[in-house]
Amino acid sequence: MAETGSSPTAGQAQNKITGRCLCGAVRYETATPPAWTALCHCESCRRAASAPIVAWMGFAVEDVRWQGERAFYKSSRIATRGFCPKCGTQMCFESTRWPGELHLYGASRDDPENYVPDLHCHHGEALDWLQISDTLRKCPGSAELD
Ligand SMILES: [Zn+2]
Ligand SMILES: [Zn+2]
Repeated sequence: MAETGSSPTAGQAQNKITGRCLCGAVRYETATPPAWTALCHCESCRRAASAPIVAWMGFAVEDVRWQGERAFYKSSRIATRGFCPKCGTQMCFESTRWPGELHLYGASRDDPENYVPDLHCHHGEALDWLQISDTLRKCPGSAELD
């Protein structure tokens, strides 16, 4: 007999976020929505991504499942950045400053249009020509997330 149940497990899928690198060799899936989001203007993110601004999402390390091998670059005394060794796309960030956290790129989501930024961080390093007209909080340095 075919199942005729009217309540498939639709709810769970909505909390998951999936994403991938440019070539598709590295993919991720999260078990939860992000704990926080922030648009980062710092020079380290800017250079790593070759982009004027980076849209971050914060997760617990254990809530992110990976497919494909990542390569890692230690970008500072405290920070490690993961990327796809095949196409070079930046995929994640970890720092001893935020132990147990893994930061993913909002723009790498399969549905980047659904990313919602909470605030700007390291706005003190923002490029003058990047004019953004939103009304989000602009933190000059790291946002103290509570
Ligand atoms: Zn790739
Ligand atoms: Zn940054």
